[in-house]
Amino acid sequence: MKKKVVIPGTGFSAFSFAKKIDKKKYDIIIISPRNHFLFTPLLPSTTVGTIEFRSIIEPIRNLDNIVYHQAYCKNIDIKSKKIVCEDNDTKKIFEINYDYLVIAVGEVTNTFKIEGVKEYSFFLKELADARKIRTKVIDCFENASLPGLSEEEKRNMLRFVVCGGGPTGVEFAAEMHDFIEDDVKKKYKELEKYVEVVLIEARAGILATFDKKLREYTMKIFKRQKIKMMMKSFVFKVSDKKIFLMDGSELSYGLLVWVTGNTSTDFIKNSGLMLNKQGKLFTDNYFHVKKEEESYYEDIFAVGDCTVLISGEIPATAQVAQQEGFYLARFFNAGLKNYKPFKFRNLGMLAYIGDHKALADLPKFKGTGFKTFVFWRSAYLTKLVSLKNKILVVFDWTKTFLFGRDVSNF
Ligand SMILES: Cc1cc2nc3c(=O)[nH]c(=O)nc-3n(C[C@H](O)[C@H](O)[C@H](O)COP(=O)(O)OP(=O)(O)OC[C@H]3O[C@@H](n4cnc5c(N)ncnc54)[C@H](O)[C@@H]3O)c2cc1C
Repeated sequence: MKKKVVIPGTGFSAFSFAKKIDKKKYDIIIISPRNHFLFTPLLPSTTVGTIEFRSIIEPIRNLDNIVYHQAYCKNIDIKSKKIVCEDNDTKKIFEINYDYLVIAVGEVTNTFKIEGVKEYSFFLKELADARKIRTKVIDCFENASLPGLSEEEKRNMLRFVVCGGGPTGVEFAAEMHDFIEDDVKKKYKELEKYVEVVLIEARAGILATFDKKLREYTMKIFKRQKIKMMMKSFVFKVSDKKIFLMDGSELSYGLLVWVTGNTSTDFIKNSGLMLNKQGKLFTDNYFHVKKEEESYYEDIFAVGDCTVLISGEIPATAQVAQQEGFYLARFFNAGLKNYKPFKFRNLGMLAYIGDHKALADLPKFKGTGFKTFVFWRSAYLTKLVSLKNKILVVFDWTKTFLFGRDVSNF
């Protein structure tokens, strides 16, 4: 009889694992509140309509020979090898038995429990977040176009603040800049002079994981693009209209996007499994989850952002999650024995910084500017998971280039 593999998650690690595992050898059950895979590297481009939402997702039901349940995993009953789930919609609780469990639930946005962040800011993690941001951006412009507003009111409504200077924050600021240059100047001409993009970062600089020269280059380009950078700034409170900083200053805003990093999901916190200080699951180099000192579960595995390798930390990126998912599927296909341990192959990092310029921080090459932008686009195009996605994204880029971004709100 085939063994039953239960996979909580439909992200990079889960999707790669489910795609590659031999369905003749294992029964696959995927449980996730999200019934699609999301290509996050292009998510910032959807917030202003450079790319359309459906172009970067792949329905999980397009995978052959899997069973899928749209639900949250809530708890694990390790002794009786069961996972407790809750249906998204009806809140119905049900249980699923497993022979092997492959945890791939990623992480959630970290608010650091700062007052007002959860209530008033926008996250950028899921497609639904990007959709909310796009609607809000257009609302800000339409609201600021109404008659009877003072100059100050318009300025406050059109201040787009991003908190977090990592790749996601930088790419969102870059997309906002492009939107202002290409579309606002034509479609909301009279408002252009009031618009401001502000990037708040607690560290002294942005893109901490990138090479120093690339970081400096980005700061220079952002200055030229008039993106206001507030470094060494700490937010301590957010209200519906204002951001309060540790140094006593305040900043009114129209939109606040919060991208300061991630923390563990409630499922991981409540799993009863051993976690490190950051709330991640320890695994060995075969992705067995740590049980106690020197001992690992034989039937519980974990991959992706929610994990940390005991042999040494590697970055929590899509690249890592994908390599881990593929590796684990090959390990399963080999019968879970006599297999070489996982080794991360660093292919480098890319980021878009606006004005048709990108950064490439590769092991043997550091690139900037337009040529790197072309490389950035072609690299992500090849990484998109289906032919349909590739065609749609090329179509979106061409459409945006020829006709501009669509500012309809619905
Ligand atoms: C906007 C953005 C841009 C990014 N850009 C890049 C980039 O350019 N390059 C790069 O390498 N990385 C990038 N990343 C990081 C990358 O997306 C993550 O490292 C990667 O997605 C991690 O994969 P994962 O499988 O661990 O988790 P995820 O891909 O986050 O997937 C987690 C899955 O688990 C599901 N889930 C959550 N809770 C539960 C639960 N309780 N039960 C069941 N399922 C659950 C979620 O719905 C989701 O399907 C970006 C991330 C974001 C948000």
